[in-house]
Amino acid sequence: MKVKIPQKIKIGTHCYNLSFTPHIHCDEGRYANCNHRTQEIQFWSESPKSIADESLIHEVLHIGELFQRIDVSDPDIDRIANIIMILLKDNLGIEFDWSLIQEK
Ligand SMILES: [Zn+2]
Repeated sequence: MKVKIPQKIKIGTHCYNLSFTPHIHCDEGRYANCNHRTQEIQFWSESPKSIADESLIHEVLHIGELFQRIDVSDPDIDRIANIIMILLKDNLGIEFDWSLIQEK
């Protein structure tokens, strides 16, 4: 089942805009960035789809981390995101469709 990724994601009372950008330091291992001040999540335009998918979960977990006032290390956020992706993709058959997300 394909699920369209919306242009805005609401976590609690906080609404974040999603976009692609070529200006992500992918060579340093970053494929996405979450800016809490501007409430934007940006994904590297050239990212392989599987990495963009997992980056979405990763960045949403960071939003939850901030607003739930929990402290989780970045490697643990990666591990949790990977487990969630295994559940969504490999077990529930969910595929992310990024067609609504535009480059900024
Ligand atoms: Zn992170």
